[in-house]
Amino acid sequence: MLATTEYGKVTQIKMCRYPDFNPGGTVSAYLVDSLLIDSGSAHTAEELTDFLKDKDVKTVVNTHHHEDHIAANALLKERFGVELLAHPLAVNKINQPATLYPYQEEVWGYPITSQVKEIGDSVTTQHFRFQVVHTPGHDRDHICLFEPTNGWLFTGDLFVSTRPIAIRPMDDVWQIIADLKKVKALKPQFLFPAPGNVRTDPVPVLERTIQYLEDLAQKVTELHNKGLSPAEIVKQIFGNESIIAELTQQQFSSLNLVKSLLKTG
Ligand SMILES: [Zn+2]
Repeated sequence: MLATTEYGKVTQIKMCRYPDFNPGGTVSAYLVDSLLIDSGSAHTAEELTDFLKDKDVKTVVNTHHHEDHIAANALLKERFGVELLAHPLAVNKINQPATLYPYQEEVWGYPITSQVKEIGDSVTTQHFRFQVVHTPGHDRDHICLFEPTNGWLFTGDLFVSTRPIAIRPMDDVWQIIADLKKVKALKPQFLFPAPGNVRTDPVPVLERTIQYLEDLAQKVTELHNKGLSPAEIVKQIFGNESIIAELTQQQFSSLNLVKSLLKTG
């Protein structure tokens, strides 16, 4: 399923395998001029490509290599001859077959590999110039795009919510905090995330998220210093793990969040 919303010259393209657009299974791509930012999952690749058939897309930038951001790459290249770009660390991962957990195949589907090229410091379209901002907390190959004239910030999976309670094992929460501070300093006017809704008040939203994570880090450290184990800290702060942990084979869990907060910082 696909639903679009216009934000001035930016089109948000929400995509979900299911008609309910449930938050855990919905991801957005964004279209500005001839640039598409992310290409969604395998389950929606045909539908997205069909939607874009009269849109003159010339370039696709992947914010990172995850399967819900890259899976229409191959089809878009085949149909429209688009140029595919991603961070240098993402290139080999996107160009090779993915290894997925069962929940990922269920929700997103299996992506066809595609030949992406290394992105430079910026991407230029007919009317705009987008700065590439490396934000390696969510994954080492993650980037955001920032258009300074309009204050548009495209954040991929960097920003999920103001109060995240579960992360994946490869998320580095201290680096995520640093990334959130880095993009907040750009003073964006609009935040265009891959998960969830567009935010028209990005600076306070980013501030709240940073504050929440720093407060959480303090609580976790205090409990750790009292001798509690990571699992006991989870119980104390969050109660039990949410159902998401079970559904994702413990890939998204509060335990991962606590362990990541205990690593450095
Ligand atoms: Zn991701």
